Amino acid sequence: MDAPERFDQLIAFLESQLPAPVDRQEAADGSMQFTAGDPAQVVVVLTDQSVVVSEFAGVWESPFTLAPRPRRVGVLKWRRLPETSLFNALTALIKGAREARQSRFHTCRYCGNRTAPEWMHDDGVCQSCADQHSGAVH
Ligand SMILES: [Zn+2]
Repeated sequence: MDAPERFDQLIAFLESQLPAPVDRQEAADGSMQFTAGDPAQVVVVLTDQSVVVSEFAGVWESPFTLAPRPRRVGVLKWRRLPETSLFNALTALIKGAREARQSRFHTCRYCGNRTAPEWMHDDGVCQSCADQHSGAVH
């Protein structure tokens, strides 16, 4: 199979296997970044040589700007792997990144929702409960 066909296959695979919704951004150099999940769980960067899988993480640069700081979990040189091995490895990396991300979620002690760490107000209380109970939460 030639490389352009495999590249298209990888895009189709990522769009079907990543947690929805999948946001796809194309860079000027032809590479593509996929940010998947709401809140975001997995970030994948696909170039003409490699596919990089990261666990999503973010830091607040200002009260209104969440800057992505993905944590890389694996890099595959996709041209060097046979098809079955490539997709098995990619499936495992995506699963690992999702599990790592979800393990960082906290359960809010007010609403009981599993909440991403960047949306927690402080230990044990999510941001929306903190807003509702403002003044009551210490
Ligand atoms: Zn809450």
